Amino acid sequence: MEKVRLGKTNLVVTKLGWGGIPIQRVGEREAVSVIRTVIEMGTDLLDTARGYTNSEHRIGLALQKIDRPVVLSSKSHVKTARIYNDVQESLKQVKVKKINIYHLHNVSNFEDYEKVMASGGAFEGLTRARAEGLIDHIGITSHNLNVLERAIEDGHFEVIMACYSFLEPEAAFKVFPLAQKKDIGVLAMKPFSGGVIEEAGPALRFTLSMANIVPIPGSETLELARMNWKIFAEGYSLTEKDKERMEALKKEFNRQFCRRCDYCLPCTAKIKIQFAMGLKTIIKRFGPEVEEIGWMKDLLEKARNCSECGECLPRCPYQLPIPDIIKENLAWFDHLRNR
Ligand code: SF4
Ligand code: SF4
Repeated sequence: MEKVRLGKTNLVVTKLGWGGIPIQRVGEREAVSVIRTVIEMGTDLLDTARGYTNSEHRIGLALQKIDRPVVLSSKSHVKTARIYNDVQESLKQVKVKKINIYHLHNVSNFEDYEKVMASGGAFEGLTRARAEGLIDHIGITSHNLNVLERAIEDGHFEVIMACYSFLEPEAAFKVFPLAQKKDIGVLAMKPFSGGVIEEAGPALRFTLSMANIVPIPGSETLELARMNWKIFAEGYSLTEKDKERMEALKKEFNRQFCRRCDYCLPCTAKIKIQFAMGLKTIIKRFGPEVEEIGWMKDLLEKARNCSECGECLPRCPYQLPIPDIIKENLAWFDHLRNR
């Protein structure tokens, strides 16, 4: 089973880690069972966050009956030294005395970067937590590769977390080589581009093929957890079929896809933007009959109220033309319905 050294942290973990976003979507019993299975299969690193509602708590429950040690990674959006309180809350939720890696969560632009690094900023709070032995290593996560590049250059962080998938491969050129040069550990989030890529095989094999990084796909069911592990355990050279599928999907999405991060909220018309942006995927997955379901009716009704005010636009880290895509999705749906 391939292991990766996470840079200067000297932590050595299985090449496949695990992300704690999806377990928020299932019941507690199922979530705990998934986490235990993931650990029992051999996963060494679990990632979660203060912002993932019950994820830390569920990991804490799962760890109660597990003897195998795992590397824990968590994070907080708090931008000031008060992040120290979040570290304490994370420890309480996960029911441990120490979290191995604690990140500044989604430092999305240089303004925020200056804020977290300034006197009284979040980095100071994490330095205190590290000095007191509450955490071992300080990391930073961002969807913005320029911010990560700067963070690596500045040399304060031991781990970074970047988005990496075949639909978003830029980190491989911009960030990974630099991190390796500076001996900084790399965690790769969103190997399925936030759920946009539905075929786990090509997506996981692509991210696992990149040396010295640890992808952290999440899984909310035992079936998914086992499938991801099987892909990892069976070796992950990309097949010709994988390459064909990746090319087809790259053409289909043409970079204009929503990563479901919700940074664009709140919407002035109360639209659940990520769902309106993902309308085609939802309809393809559930069929047009899904329109009859209450939440979908509500979603479509609200989406039609987009006033094109543009308030959401500067908040999207991917510069997606949100109102245009919503309009296009609705036109596509109406066409489908009227056929
Ligand atoms: S442009 Fe549309 S989606 Fe964006 S905030 Fe305004 S109403 Fe909401
Ligand atoms: S539109 Fe942009 S900000 Fe909003 S959920 Fe999608 S990717 Fe995130």
